[in-house]
Amino acid sequence: MDVLKDKQLKYELYDNKGFVILQDCMPRMLDAKKQTADYAIAAMARVSYGNIELKSDEDDKKLINRLVEMHHTSPLEGVQFKFVMQIPIYVARQLIRHRTAKVNEYSMRYSKAIDDFYFPPLRTQDKVNKQQSVELKSANNDIVTSYKNACQKSQNLIKEYNDLISKDCAREVARSILPVAEMTKLVWCMDAHNLFKFLKLRCDRSTAQKEIVDLADAIFNLITPIIPVTCEAVKKYWINSATFSTDEMNILCKTIDTLPAIMAIKKSEELNERQKTALLIKLKLSDKAKMLLSH
Ligand SMILES: Cc1cc2nc3c(=O)[nH]c(=O)nc-3n(C[C@H](O)[C@H](O)[C@H](O)COP(=O)(O)OP(=O)(O)OC[C@H]3O[C@@H](n4cnc5c(N)ncnc54)[C@H](O)[C@@H]3O)c2cc1C
Repeated sequence: MDVLKDKQLKYELYDNKGFVILQDCMPRMLDAKKQTADYAIAAMARVSYGNIELKSDEDDKKLINRLVEMHHTSPLEGVQFKFVMQIPIYVARQLIRHRTAKVNEYSMRYSKAIDDFYFPPLRTQDKVNKQQSVELKSANNDIVTSYKNACQKSQNLIKEYNDLISKDCAREVARSILPVAEMTKLVWCMDAHNLFKFLKLRCDRSTAQKEIVDLADAIFNLITPIIPVTCEAVKKYWINSATFSTDEMNILCKTIDTLPAIMAIKKSEELNERQKTALLIKLKLSDKAKMLLSH
């Protein structure tokens, strides 16, 4: 069976001026007994024990959760995705920093510039967080008019570009007058491990720019039906998790009221015994737990 069959393969983005398509993936053809490509990750991991037979979906789920929890990530690199996308150049510049991708970009040396731009909705600079912008709350006509006029001027540059081309200006020279809101096209390939690193960073609305978050969300939606169990595990252990610095850990450990915290962990139904012990060790509560619970 083809793993891409009956799946949503395209998301429109940037007011329909851009898109992302899941063009291909590996493995593409599924083993007859399997519905999704999750099994390929579990099967790759089982080689560690010399095992090459397929196991049940339930066994695969347990193993994948354990792999993700323990950051045993190389089996995730056995699954690969190929996307085709049309995005503004300023988003592509951020995307290109994810160096483990294999990329080929539309060339404005060989082809004429794409006659489309995406100017994001006007936002103002966050006063506290340099990485953030904020929605325009009150209608500040001055900035609205300035932005609208500037976008129009930028967009008009395509006419001057076309004029230069018609006068035999080289495409590689003429392109230099165009703004970063100009659309570009990319083929972008990544393995699941590095793709999840990308998604953890770029689905984060508190740090990443909205326009790359929109792309990252669409990519997450495209791969979820292909490796649903892995995506769920990644959300649980990586995307929705947080790390703490030494100072933060010290504050946390000091603040936690020992007995209620230990009891809450011991009684929790979300964690198994191994995970409870690991959490007590992380919170430096394991010695106290042994002492209190032995009485
Ligand atoms: C909010 C935010 C703001 C950012 N601001 C800027 C900025 O202002 N300027 C800027 O240039 N970038 C910026 N970046 C990009 C950032 O510095 C990283 O380059 C980008 O997030 C890619 O992360 P990565 O290295 O984990 O991914 P990848 O490049 O895909 O690498 C994946 C993993 O492979 C390994 N790896 C890859 N390359 C190497 C290498 N050369 N050496 C050793 N290990 C490697 C690392 O383990 C890495 O985590 C920003 C990113 C975010 C999320």
